[in-house]
Amino acid sequence: MPINERVLQLNEKPINEKARYVLYWMQMFKRTSHNHSLTWAIRKANEMKLPLVAYEGLKYYYPWASDRLHTFILEGVEEKRKEFERLGIRYIFYLQNDESSPKNTVAKLAKDAALIVTDDFPCFIIPGHNRHIAERAEIAVHAVDSNGIIPMSKFDKEEYAAYTIRPKIRKLLPNYLKPFAEETVEIDSTNIDIDASFETIVTANRIAELVSHCDIDHSVTPSHVYHGGTANGRKRLKKFVEEILPDYDNARNKPDRDGSSRLSAYLHFGFLSPLEIALAVQEAEAPQESKDAYLEELIVRRELSYNMTRHNPKFDSLAALPDWVHKTMRVHADDEREVTYTLEELEAGQTHDELWNACQREMVRTGEMHNYVRMLWGKNVIAWSRSYEEAFETLVHLNNKYCLDGRNPNSYAGILWCFGKHDRPWMERPVFGQMRYMTSGSTGRKFDSKKYIQWTKMLG
Ligand SMILES: Cc1cc2nc3c(=O)[nH]c(=O)nc-3n(C[C@H](O)[C@H](O)[C@H](O)COP(=O)(O)OP(=O)(O)OC[C@H]3O[C@@H](n4cnc5c(N)ncnc54)[C@H](O)[C@@H]3O)c2cc1C
Repeated sequence: MPINERVLQLNEKPINEKARYVLYWMQMFKRTSHNHSLTWAIRKANEMKLPLVAYEGLKYYYPWASDRLHTFILEGVEEKRKEFERLGIRYIFYLQNDESSPKNTVAKLAKDAALIVTDDFPCFIIPGHNRHIAERAEIAVHAVDSNGIIPMSKFDKEEYAAYTIRPKIRKLLPNYLKPFAEETVEIDSTNIDIDASFETIVTANRIAELVSHCDIDHSVTPSHVYHGGTANGRKRLKKFVEEILPDYDNARNKPDRDGSSRLSAYLHFGFLSPLEIALAVQEAEAPQESKDAYLEELIVRRELSYNMTRHNPKFDSLAALPDWVHKTMRVHADDEREVTYTLEELEAGQTHDELWNACQREMVRTGEMHNYVRMLWGKNVIAWSRSYEEAFETLVHLNNKYCLDGRNPNSYAGILWCFGKHDRPWMERPVFGQMRYMTSGSTGRKFDSKKYIQWTKMLG
């Protein structure tokens, strides 16, 4: 049930105004500024003359949980604790190690809460969390959309492609591309008496030890290139707008150069908001073509992905593809594949294609793959898999296991894009049918692929 364009009430339970505090359960927007969930929670707490408590938990059993993802999240915890303290808000972080650790912590905190405010994110484990807490809690649950610059509710159906959403975004954008109005709490809750015996105090020097005690995949190691947290995201944003953006329109297609923003992991975990990034880009000293090219990716492409996951319940399968792709897949399903590889061979980057192996190596070793080669990476897996379904599953698994920005609407839209989602039919070819075709040979000639391959071999 919508309360406004960003806020949904997820159940029909009452607000308990006699309770002790409002609870903000932070799940995806892991930041203390430019966060519509947090400002809504502050507003509600002030209206009821109650303090606000913010809670963030990290469980050990979400899909693809690993040292890499845990470390990136934990790197943002200490700064958030300090920031919440400065804002007068009690912040509780809980790292659940394994099966024997305390459970149902949100429900425990909700017992003394008037209302639960949480994040509305259209994919991965969040919709399930939100359904569960809405059923289980005895109080109202509000889910707030702080995903994009424009609220997801402004598009009431699934858009067909970038060309259908772009004019709508252009029309709406002036209302939303504005400095964010932050809110402040009227009652300080930093010393509130609360039973949070499960709380975990995270400091930078304890992260490796904390992660080592979790029952997660320790084979996917932390990134040495990307470090989590809003401060690290802002550091990269500053470098991007000052040094990289002026040549973005040209350099973003060169994986051998540091030519794109590399901010997608910060966006995925909500350490940075797209609004903060877009405003910094707008104000930067850079040619208008570069700014436009960047904002097309950050706003049009990104919000198209969120639109798909919000409105298409089959977004995590080939069923989300348009009819023309299903038709062409039926015609070409049995085409002979020149070569096929197992998941293990692909994961180890052991194919005949040196450029593909380099893309895979970059992803496995750093937690990111350059924007320009991601489609090539996906297209080759289609060519080398026994079926389209197997290719899709392999891509989702590898992308979500290794990429810091995985498990995101962009992950599903990006992978489906390799199969023709948000695209148009092209010239018919074996295996691909009318899906757009790409080869490492022609893509690799558009940049210094030897340099890129060499660079990935040197990554630790
Ligand atoms: C097979 C495949 C898998 C992908 N998996 C992911 C993923 O797991 N997570 C993810 O965030 N993106 C994914 N993408 C989209 C895109 O490749 C990444 O967003 C981009 O590589 C991030 O790098 P960057 O921040 O340097 O991008 P920039 O070039 O600096 O772009 C700026 C921002 O715009 C957005 N953006 C850029 N390209 C796209 C796009 N094609 N679709 C939607 N938004 C876009 C991202 O938020 C990005 O940070 C995938 C694309 C493909 C083809």
